[in-house]
Amino acid sequence: MGSDPQVIIIGGGVFGCSTAYHLATKGCRDVLLLEAREIASQGTAQAAGLIRVLHPGVLMTRIAQYAINAFERFEEEVGHKIGFQQPGAFLIALGEAAAGGLRAWTMRGARLGVESWLISPEEARVRLPLLETEGVRVVVYEPADAYLDARQVAIGYARAAAAHGVQIETGRPARAIEVENGKIVAVQTDRERLETRCVVLAAGAWGPDLARRCGCPLPTVPVRHQCHVTIPLPDVRPNFPMVRFPELGTYLRPAKGGLMVGGYEPKPRSYGPGEVTDTLDVQHLKPDPEVLREVTKRVTPFFPILDAAPIAAEQQGLPTLTPDGLPLVGEVPGIQGLFAASGDNLGGVSIAPTVGHILSDLILGRISPYDLGPMAVGRFGSRYRDVAALRRACEARYADFGQQYLLPDERAG
Ligand SMILES: Cc1cc2nc3c(=O)[nH]c(=O)nc-3n(C[C@H](O)[C@H](O)[C@H](O)COP(=O)(O)OP(=O)(O)OC[C@H]3O[C@@H](n4cnc5c(N)ncnc54)[C@H](O)[C@@H]3O)c2cc1C
Repeated sequence: MGSDPQVIIIGGGVFGCSTAYHLATKGCRDVLLLEAREIASQGTAQAAGLIRVLHPGVLMTRIAQYAINAFERFEEEVGHKIGFQQPGAFLIALGEAAAGGLRAWTMRGARLGVESWLISPEEARVRLPLLETEGVRVVVYEPADAYLDARQVAIGYARAAAAHGVQIETGRPARAIEVENGKIVAVQTDRERLETRCVVLAAGAWGPDLARRCGCPLPTVPVRHQCHVTIPLPDVRPNFPMVRFPELGTYLRPAKGGLMVGGYEPKPRSYGPGEVTDTLDVQHLKPDPEVLREVTKRVTPFFPILDAAPIAAEQQGLPTLTPDGLPLVGEVPGIQGLFAASGDNLGGVSIAPTVGHILSDLILGRISPYDLGPMAVGRFGSRYRDVAALRRACEARYADFGQQYLLPDERAG
C-alpha cells in the first residue's frame, strides 16, 4: 500500500480480523489493520470459545445462524484450522421457575427454526456420563452449539485477509482518531498521520476510551470475566456436550482432555474511563482465585469429578458489556465514516463472522440483509451519558447473564 488506506481497522481481535477478511473478499483491499500488540493476543485469546446459536431474539439468532454456518465451512473457505467441535449443548434448570423458563425457551427454538428440545436427565447422562443428575429438573439439548479455538479464528481471518492484500501491522497502536466537521479524516500512530475516510473501531476493552477521546462515547463498559481449565481428567471426551446452568451463571465444556469451567460474578468488576491503559495486557491480568473457586463450587454437585481437580490454566479478560446485552455494530452517530464493532457481551466470537460481513457491507455502501436497529450504536440516546449509570447497568447485565434463557424477550434483537 503506497498511499493512505481507504479503510483503517483498529484492533486485531476476532472482530477486526473478520472485518478485514470480509472487506478483502468483497473486493476492498485498500485496508490497513493496526494492532497495538499481536493478532488475537487479547480478549480473543482468552475466550472459552463456546458458540451458541439460539438467542432470545430473532436478530441475534439469525446472526448466530450465519456465524455457525461460517464456522462449519471455515477450514474449507478460509483455509485455517480452528479446532471446531459441534457436540451441542445442554441447558440445565434446577428450580421450578427455571424449568418453566427453559420449556418456553424450546418453543422459541421451534419458532426460530433452531433445534432445541427437552431430554430426560437419564438421556442427558447417556450423552454426558460425568453429569450427576440428582437435583436436575429440566435439560434442554441444543445440537447445533459448538466450541472452537477463538484465537485461531482471528489468526485464520488475518492470514486470509493478508493473502487478499490487506496490510496488517502489529505492535502499532492507533494513538488518535481525527474527526473534522463530523467526518473521519485521519488516524495517528506513533510514526505518522494516515489520512482516511473510514475507520473501524474494533479495539476490544480499549475501544470505549479511544472513542471517548474522539468525542463519541460508546455505551459499553469492560467487565472482568474468568474461566479455568482442569488438567486432563479420566473419561472426558471432546464430543461431550457443553453445559450451561442459567440459574448458577456457569458453563462447562471439554477442553484439552479436562473441563473448562467459567462463570459470572454476582458483584462484577467493571473498568471505568482511563483504567484500561495502553500498557495493560489481559494476559497479565491477575485472575481472582476466589471467584473461580466459588464458580466451581456451584457446579461441583453436578460434576463431582471437579472436586479437587487440579487447575492447568486460567483465562481472563475484559469483554465489553452493554446495558441490553446486544452488541454495538454499525456507524457511530454524528461521525461519518466511523464504524464500531464493540459491546461483545461475552459472545463476540460466536458472532464474529457475521459482524465482519455486516460491517463490510455497510462500509461498501451495500444494503445489509439484517435489521440493524437493535445493534445500533446510538440506540440508547442520552440515557447512559453518565458513566456511573452506564457502569451500573452493564454490571447488572453481567451479573444476571443467565436470566436471558429464563425470561426471554422476543422484542430483543
Ligand atoms: C474468559 C472469557 C471467556 C469468554 N468466552 C467466550 C465464549 O465462550 N464465546 C464467545 O463468543 N465469546 C467469549 N468471550 C468473549 C470474547 O473473548 C470477545 O467477545 C471477543 O474476543 C471480542 O473480540 P474483540 O476483537 O472485540 O477484542 P480483542 O480480542 O480484545 O481485540 C481487540 C484488539 O484491539 C487491540 N487494540 C486496542 N487498542 C488499540 C489501539 N489503540 N491501536 C491498535 N490496536 C489496539 C488490542 O491489542 C486487541 O488485540 C470470552 C471472554 C473471556 C474473557
